[in-house]
Amino acid sequence: MDLLIVGSGFFGLTIAERAASAGRKVVVIDRRHHIGGNAYSEDEPETGIEVHRYGAHLFHTSNPTVWEYVNRFTTFTDYVHRVYTNHKGVVFPLPINLGTINQFFQSAYSPDEARALVHELAGEFDPKTAQNLEERGIGLIGRPLYEAFIRDYTGKQWQTDPKDLPAEIISRLPVRYTYDNRYFNDTWEGLPTDGYTAWIERMADHPNIEVRLSTDFFDESQPFNKTATVGQVPIVYTGPVDRYFDYAEGALSWRTIDLEQEVLPVGDFQGTSVMNYADADVPYTRIHEFRHFHPEREDRYPKDKTVIMREFSRFADRDDEPYYPINTAEDRNGLLAYRELGKGEKDVHFGGRLGTYQYLDMHMAIGSALSMWNNQLA
Ligand code: FAD
Ligand code: UDP
Repeated sequence: MDLLIVGSGFFGLTIAERAASAGRKVVVIDRRHHIGGNAYSEDEPETGIEVHRYGAHLFHTSNPTVWEYVNRFTTFTDYVHRVYTNHKGVVFPLPINLGTINQFFQSAYSPDEARALVHELAGEFDPKTAQNLEERGIGLIGRPLYEAFIRDYTGKQWQTDPKDLPAEIISRLPVRYTYDNRYFNDTWEGLPTDGYTAWIERMADHPNIEVRLSTDFFDESQPFNKTATVGQVPIVYTGPVDRYFDYAEGALSWRTIDLEQEVLPVGDFQGTSVMNYADADVPYTRIHEFRHFHPEREDRYPKDKTVIMREFSRFADRDDEPYYPINTAEDRNGLLAYRELGKGEKDVHFGGRLGTYQYLDMHMAIGSALSMWNNQLA
């Protein structure tokens, strides 16, 4: 073995594939019973509808290197992501655009009129100098739209007062003065034509790659454990960085989500793939309906059944799946301390979402793995 990779998510698999193609022998271990990390999907057995096991995953990128790379393993459908939101029983388009504004104010403003109105309503805060999510939100869209679509949804998602959250969280959502309601701004987007798992399996399908599932790096009874391997072989570690150091600098805080899946006896539950629920009195943040991710499969999917998933967000305990880094000031200090400790680990490379305590989209995880391979490992 030339390289041990801990974790078979997109970061670990990209390194594995590059190393194997360069003639290196690689072992990939994962504590789960499947490869693919959080992007893993499987067909719901009763309906055959592809379900993303760890929450809906939409692929999008503007990075030509990543786009060329991923297309070696899968083609993509022409799915374009659009999201709607339910506020007080009325459905509005997201991200906030001229359609949302005109529907909310029961008006027919032109782009310039809508801009002038929002500017007037947002007067209290300048988004460029906003200190927190609330100030940035109000600065971008004005208080009435902020209170309708952002305040309570964010409260449910983060269980933290928006005044105490970093302004950047909201910057991921564009605000548009046209009727364009594409959720992402990227050059390329789509879903893997024959599913995430087929894509992931093709990345791992190489004679130089050995995959060992249900294998925890910290389990001393299995041969590729931490004590037996560190210092003996180069390691790429994509598990939680605080766990690696046995929480010596404290536990970094994460949010997790609970996903409640249901098969319903109707052909179409909500007419779209994702419906957000903006109000505080609905306990979940959104409902995914998986058939709508693949309209090209309508002939294959049942006409009288559908699969939905309700998403509930909460603080993660140590045994929960870590999903979104919270990034408090304390977390940032902890992360710096772990980075220092990491420098002392001989030939251990920390990568991916958990290994670097960063929210990474799939294209970012893949891009950063390609850089690590080219710049440090190759
Ligand atoms: P992961 O996929 O988390 O893989 C890490 C792997 O390491 C896991 O398989 C884990 O089991 C394994 N591991 C951890 N500890 C150990 C251990 N001790 N021993 C052995 N194995 C271990 N990205 C998008 O581009 N679009 C989206 O729409 C999107 N939606 C998302 C929705 C949710 C709810 C979440 C949480 C993420 C979403 N992402 C999305 C991000 C995407 O999941 C990540 O970019 C991707 O998972 C990053 O891959 P990774 O390899 O860094 O981490
Ligand atoms: N957000 C919101 N209302 C919505 C959708 C998003 O307030 O209807 C805010 C919320 O704070 C969220 C952030 O925008 O955390 C980013 O949204 P995105 O959809 O990118 O979140 P993710 O898909 O990562 O959960």
